[in-house]
This record gives sequence, C-alpha cells and structure tokens, in this order.
Amino acid sequence: MLICDTHCDTLYMRALEPDKTPCVTMENLRRGGVSLQTCTLYAGPNGVSGHPYENAMAEYAAFCRLRDEEGWTLARSPLEAKDGETRVLLSIEGGEIFEGSAERVREFAALGVRMAALTWNNENELAYPAKGGSTERIKPAGWELLREMARLRIAADTSHLNEAGFWDLVDRHTQPPMASHSCCRALCDHFRNLTDAQIKAMAQRGGWIGVNFYPQFLTGSAHASVADIADHIDHICQLGAAKNVGFGSDFDGIECTPSDCQSPAQVPNILSELRRRGYGEEALADIAGGNFLRYYQRLGDEAQG
Ligand SMILES: [Zn+2]
Repeated sequence: MLICDTHCDTLYMRALEPDKTPCVTMENLRRGGVSLQTCTLYAGPNGVSGHPYENAMAEYAAFCRLRDEEGWTLARSPLEAKDGETRVLLSIEGGEIFEGSAERVREFAALGVRMAALTWNNENELAYPAKGGSTERIKPAGWELLREMARLRIAADTSHLNEAGFWDLVDRHTQPPMASHSCCRALCDHFRNLTDAQIKAMAQRGGWIGVNFYPQFLTGSAHASVADIADHIDHICQLGAAKNVGFGSDFDGIECTPSDCQSPAQVPNILSELRRRGYGEEALADIAGGNFLRYYQRLGDEAQG
C-alpha cells in the first residue's frame, strides 16, 4: 500500500531552526512505509518583509544536502512513488516566495516544486490568508501566477487561504483545488479548517484534502490521538469525498503531535484505526495514497512506463 503525506516543515526546521530535532527522517519514513513525503519550502513567519525567497532557497539547499549525504530522492511527480521506496515531493508554502514573478514560478517548477499555497498566514501581493478572515478574493497578481502554475501542473494549495479566495479558485481556476494540510471545521471550529461546503466542493471539482495531524486543528486542544485523525477522515468521507482525502501531517511544523502518531513511523496507526472501524483494504489504499496519485492524474500527470 502506497502511503503519501502532503505536508511537512522539515526543510525549514533543518535550514532555519537548527536547534530543533526533526521527526521526519529517512529512518522514520521507512519505518512507517511512507512512499512519498511532501516537504515544503516555507516563506517563514514574517511575510513579504521576512526574506521569503532567501528562506526558500536555504530550505532547498537543505534538501540538496539530504539528497547528497543521506540519499533522499526527489519525485517530480507523485506517480513516481513506489512501494518499499521513499521519495520527496517539493511544495511552496507562502506565495511571497515568488515575489510576484512568473519567472520565479518557472524557476521553482524546474527545481521540482509541484504544489504551491498562495499564502501562509500573512497577506502578500497575491492573496489573503484565512487568518484574519478577509472577504477579499484573490488579487490580479495571484491569478497571473495561478495561470502559470496551471501550465506547469503545480497544484493550487488552499490550506491557509481565506475562504473568499478558496471560492474564487473553485469558480475560476482551471485546475481542481487542493488543501495540503487542513481539517474539518464541523469537528473543530478553527479558521484553518475547511467547512462542509468547502469539502463538498473539493469532491465535486475532483480536488484533494490532506488531513492535518495538529491536535489544535483536530480537537482544539494540545491533546489528540489517531482516533481524532480518523474522525476527521471519516467526516470527509461522509460528505462524499472518500476519493479526495488522505494525510497532510504538518510534522515538524507543529509543536505537539497526537500521542500515538508522533512521527512518520506511526502513520500506519491511523490505517489500523480506520480498519478497526470497518474500512476495507481498497478504501484504505485510497486514503493512504491512491487518492493523491489520482488527483495528480487529473492535473495531467501520467504514469511512467
Ligand atoms: Zn501550514
């Protein structure tokens, strides 16, 4: 069974928080049988004034060191994921990294980036974040970069985007939207979580949702377990999006984890919990990774040979 995870902040931690110890290591990924780990290039917390491009390049350099010294392998498509092997997909978190330039989008596409969030928690030249609750739609510069992203098959990640921006994307973007690390507002009322209407729109548009493992988004407290992750996955399935859901751990970007899912090594505990609830092997394979691969097929990726 292929296991995919669509968000972790490990490269930021390695590049810019060297005192911390990442839990996303090749050893833990292999122990958990994770075939595809998405590692984001994060703008950093200070928005346009916080040197986002330089941060992203420092994080890419951290990836290159892991590649050269520890054998980490880049996947240029999720369809390169293979059972028994572990590959890394690159994403962007915080469109200020692009500095409003389509040329920068092409530059990161050439490095292998395959998904990008227009915002983190700060407004930038492209769009408005969920934090603050702006009712403004995506800015013209955001649409310019979204068109270039679509041409390069870079998925539009709506985690962190404001709700008005989300609906703007659903209405006008040529690609189905995705949320790389978000949970359900109906189960935990946090601005970072998706409403039922947003989840249903993801299903209708052929989008994708990676459920976040952060206890604050799962339960609203510092405490959670794989049962809470399963509750959020189950809720998404109940809304008709069983083919549009999977894992978006947020490991190394969250200061606490579920007690029984503290690193990629324990991701199989979620599958065990879903199995215990009656999910069949086919449904589990969809949630573990199959849904994510098919999302990229809808973007135009084709399996190799
Ligand atoms: Zn995030």
